[in-house]
Amino acid sequence: MPDERSSCFLVDTHAHIDGPEFDADRREAIARAAASGVRYIVNFGDDMASSARSVALSEAEDAVFCGVGIHPNNAVSLTEEEEERLAQWSKHPKVIAIGEIGLDYYWEKDQEQRALQRHCFIRQLDLARQLHLPVCIHDREAHGDLLAILKKEGRENTGVIHCFSGSFEMARELLRLGWYLGVDGPVTYKNAAKLPDIVRRLPADRILLETDSPYLSPRPYRGKRNEPAFVRNTAEFVASIRSVSFATLAKQTTTNARLLYGLF
Ligand SMILES: [Zn+2]
Repeated sequence: MPDERSSCFLVDTHAHIDGPEFDADRREAIARAAASGVRYIVNFGDDMASSARSVALSEAEDAVFCGVGIHPNNAVSLTEEEEERLAQWSKHPKVIAIGEIGLDYYWEKDQEQRALQRHCFIRQLDLARQLHLPVCIHDREAHGDLLAILKKEGRENTGVIHCFSGSFEMARELLRLGWYLGVDGPVTYKNAAKLPDIVRRLPADRILLETDSPYLSPRPYRGKRNEPAFVRNTAEFVASIRSVSFATLAKQTTTNARLLYGLF
């Protein structure tokens, strides 16, 4: 009888393993992910340099796909040259998204810088639409402006709100607009407040599992460096709160990743 676990696998749909945190053991971390059933990793750039590293990593490692983009904490007024570079990368067979892009009002309090974040975000939404690529969105304490932009400039974009941290009402609004929601380690935390209940109520076909490595390790690794293998811990927790088997959750979330990114 085939092992149910071997017929399903996980995808870590959001990681940053191109950075210095993984310089000592990047290949080992990718091997540990494979050993714990994580067949693919989507690595996201957060500026031009890390986007270049992400593309190089995806070329070197079969298991790694990537997104390229400018994170809100590195927001710039994109030059034509930078937009051209992003467009060139997007033709690469292993570049499957524009990201990580979005808004971060937690770290950025300055109104002019926040305006620059919105500008940089909207330009990249536009670029993704022209390139027919999904986007991966970071939203921290910017829920109102994010929704307003997605309803206006992002109407025809597809993608995921990574590490979703809003209310159930916001989730419902995003689902209605067709977005996927990313679920990470914080859902497993003892002080996760309403998040487990929100994740329990999400439609199965809209959930993506992610680690955001090296950040946000799930229990029991909280406080340590996160790595793609640990998406399994989040998957097991989410399966338990939704009262479904691990295999059911793995198959569904992998299908979701396949449908959004058109790959695997
Ligand atoms: Zn991230």
